[in-house]
Amino acid sequence: QAKSQGRGRHVFFDVDLRERMQRRLQLEQDLRDAARNEQLAVVYQPIVDLRTSRVVSVEALLRWAHPVHGAISPSEFIPLAEESDLINLLGGHVLRTTTEQVSGLRARVGPDCNLAVNLSPRQLDDPRLVPAVQDVLRTTGLSPSTLCLEITENALMRDPSIAAETLSALRELGVRLAIDDFGTGYSSLAQLRRLPIDQLKIDRSFVAALGECRDAEEIVRSIIMMAHAVNLTVVAEGVENARQLDVLRHLECDQVQGFHIGRPTAPENLVTTG
Ligand code: C2E
Ligand code: MG
Ligand code: MG
Ligand code: MG
Repeated sequence: QAKSQGRGRHVFFDVDLRERMQRRLQLEQDLRDAARNEQLAVVYQPIVDLRTSRVVSVEALLRWAHPVHGAISPSEFIPLAEESDLINLLGGHVLRTTTEQVSGLRARVGPDCNLAVNLSPRQLDDPRLVPAVQDVLRTTGLSPSTLCLEITENALMRDPSIAAETLSALRELGVRLAIDDFGTGYSSLAQLRRLPIDQLKIDRSFVAALGECRDAEEIVRSIIMMAHAVNLTVVAEGVENARQLDVLRHLECDQVQGFHIGRPTAPENLVTTG
């Protein structure tokens, strides 16, 4: 009984694995054509300042409408793209699209609205990144300090010296830098402090536990205090209800982002809350 069950599970696993590998291969191929075939779109999620209650920034999030599989999450296709040079293609696409849409965004949200764009670990290693950023700044006339590039902790830990060099070069262009999903990696604030960053984004796993778990509140409190001590702005990600918002306000978090504030939406559907 145990033996046949074990074998059954083994077969099931193989089929499952083969299907997943096939889907991956197929998606990777499809992704190469997606940008050209206009299947990629950028949506924007508002980031609100807690003191003024105004939208101070919008984060660009990539969406893929696959002709067969429908909407595919960036959590699935970004890691796929990361495995090859494809990510640099996608990254360039996002950078160009968003910086071109900025004046339209500002017409809706407000003239001071900043733009946040995610960078993948692999883009940080690409020598073409800094020239590409410089290029979009020049061609769009976007004021560099209104562009914030988000980098996950893990990206920095891959090769800290390359990352530090790239970040410094980006910073010299005048753009701002944020650490995304803070708290999910293994970096300490002491390590991050040596990098030329402006902002910490607290991962939504911590925010989700706010108001439910005393420890979460203490963790978030200490992240905010430490970040402020080294002059970093703090954004809380994934704010889903009023209670979390209250706690964050009480903890003197600077900015908030999440479904409770506003969902990621197409640029033409963005509205001002200010
Ligand atoms: P991220 O940069 O941390 O972006 C925030 C993610 O949390 C987004 O997921 C957003 O839709 C989601 N989110 C926002 N508020 C809430 C909330 O209240 N509750 C919950 N449960 N989720 C919330 P999304 O759009 O699926 O993107 C996932 C990740 O994919 C992003 O995480 C980012 O790491 C990556 N990504 C998305 N677009 C790009 C891109 O253009 N380039 C790169 N390199 N990565 C991207
Ligand atoms: Mg982000
Ligand atoms: Mg994040
Ligand atoms: Mg995330």
